[in-house]
Amino acid sequence: MDLRLLCVHAHPDDEAIWTGGTLARYADEGAATAVVTCSWAEGTRRAEELRHSLDILGAGEPRLLGYADARKPESAPGNPRLLDVPLDEAVGRVVEHIRQFRPDVVLTYDGYGSYGHPDHVHVHRVTMAAVEAAGYDQLYRDAGAPWRPRASGRPCTHTSPRSAAARR
Ligand SMILES: [Zn+2]
Repeated sequence: MDLRLLCVHAHPDDEAIWTGGTLARYADEGAATAVVTCSWAEGTRRAEELRHSLDILGAGEPRLLGYADARKPESAPGNPRLLDVPLDEAVGRVVEHIRQFRPDVVLTYDGYGSYGHPDHVHVHRVTMAAVEAAGYDQLYRDAGAPWRPRASGRPCTHTSPRSAAARR
């Protein structure tokens, strides 16, 4: 399959919990897949688990932004929480990965972050802005050549039934 799929997630585990089936299926069909994970830093146990997970899913090397999880300062000692960095900074980091990987499709959380986790909700916002910005050569000039995913230039979102979100 001639397709490149990029998932943007908040935490290690999310690639498997929310998009594991999608990533595995597309990789199995020959698509190129990759995952950006916005929180948790290299050297943490969960970052190592992410590496194993991506290996199983066929999604390449981790692409960690290294910000701290909103609720777990130990996720990235000394680094700011994703929620606390300027939006423009986080968007620019994701733009860089979009321009480097050049996906046809970008997949992230829906506007409710699947069940309302503040990092998930924020990653939705960051990804929506990043996909739009990645196509403009006037924006984030140091983040690589412009690239616009062909799937209408908008990210796809995964979602959960309201009944499942309500149980959390
Ligand atoms: Zn998560």
